[in-house]
Amino acid sequence: MNFDIPSELKIVQRSAREFAEQVVAKYVTGMEETGEYPKALIPALAEAGILGLIAPLEYGGSDLGYLARTLALEEISRVSAAIGLSMQCHHMQIAALVDWGTAKQKKKYIPALCRGDYLGVVAVTEPTGGSDLMGMTSVATPTSTGYVLNGRKCFITNSHLAGAPLVVAKTGEGPRGLSAFVIERELKGYSTGRQEHKMGLRGANTGELIFKDCKVPRSNMIGDEGAGLKVGLKAISETGRPGMAAIALGILDASLDEAVKFARERVLYKKPISNLQAIQWGLAEIYADREACKLLCYRASWLKDQGRECATEMTLAKVVTTEAAVRASRKALEIHGGCGTMLEYPVQRLYRDAMVCVSAGGTTEIGKIVMSRAVLD
Ligand SMILES: Cc1cc2nc3c(=O)[nH]c(=O)nc-3n(C[C@H](O)[C@H](O)[C@H](O)COP(=O)(O)OP(=O)(O)OC[C@H]3O[C@@H](n4cnc5c(N)ncnc54)[C@H](O)[C@@H]3O)c2cc1C
Repeated sequence: MNFDIPSELKIVQRSAREFAEQVVAKYVTGMEETGEYPKALIPALAEAGILGLIAPLEYGGSDLGYLARTLALEEISRVSAAIGLSMQCHHMQIAALVDWGTAKQKKKYIPALCRGDYLGVVAVTEPTGGSDLMGMTSVATPTSTGYVLNGRKCFITNSHLAGAPLVVAKTGEGPRGLSAFVIERELKGYSTGRQEHKMGLRGANTGELIFKDCKVPRSNMIGDEGAGLKVGLKAISETGRPGMAAIALGILDASLDEAVKFARERVLYKKPISNLQAIQWGLAEIYADREACKLLCYRASWLKDQGRECATEMTLAKVVTTEAAVRASRKALEIHGGCGTMLEYPVQRLYRDAMVCVSAGGTTEIGKIVMSRAVLD
């Protein structure tokens, strides 16, 4: 076994860190204050190669794979988990197009996503409940030339920054009764609805997509009719969950950084509080969570890069790392005492961001169901 990050991926990691610290960092305060996504950052994300990280070379990407993606998302999320979320959902649509799109569809949409003409979206969740995919009510009714789509998607990342989101809707009954479509924003009957105000990941754009008698050409279907559940689940389990895990890893890194910094600076009883054993234990707990999660996240991404079965490992990494990020950011906040509750200290943002990561990409309970199935099998 070799646990070293390959040297070419260390370059990706280092440049993502520099990009996050030098460019992304400038937008953090504004995102926190307004809850708005900084659109001006999109060309820079394209230029830095973050948008096209897992896209094939022939479609304008850099095809660096999932371990590279995890390292890059971790570095970005160490500075802004909100931008991490936006990027991870963007990658989900690219992955779905790579896995299921025709050559023509790939050529049409993937280069535009890599260039940042618009951001990627996978829209599955509806007000009827994200955990119950089969309970969705959006319907695509067949016509002579394609489908007419009616319905509403909620909690969708990059909703208002999308140009051609991937949307899953009912075309029949049962598990073979869902299909996936790319819906271009020019199509009549497609609009965006409310934008959510979240407690954390505030700068990530989250909102509704609304379809009212939206005529969708047959050529916009991704995969076969009835393959929508597979398209959605593969994107969620093999790209969405490791993406959320990488974001949570970035929060763990930042929690450790902030806790160590504060513990060294804060003087009580004439000494830094890092001299107190209870504080040292707290730092050790954050460190232990961070290191254990790194192993889970990097291994799951490596498995995907090897083309091996990895859905359970991705879910394991997502559940354990997002829960650890909540625990570690809370511990880091407690180490700050009252200062931890003041908005000028980043640690309170880390805690709020970590809480949002738990449900985005599928809740811990759903993750446990997936893992228990693997254990029982
Ligand atoms: C910031 C953010 C970004 C998101 N981005 C996207 C996106 O880009 N695209 C998209 O499609 N969706 C997105 N989502 C939606 C996300 O996938 C859902 O929030 C998630 O799947 C949970 O669905 P829900 O919120 O409707 O909760 P519900 O499904 O209503 O669940 C409520 C509670 O019931 C529990 N529960 C449900 N079923 C079971 C069960 N069988 N056993 C035990 N407990 C159960 C859940 O764990 C949860 O605690 C996003 C969500 C957030 C918060």
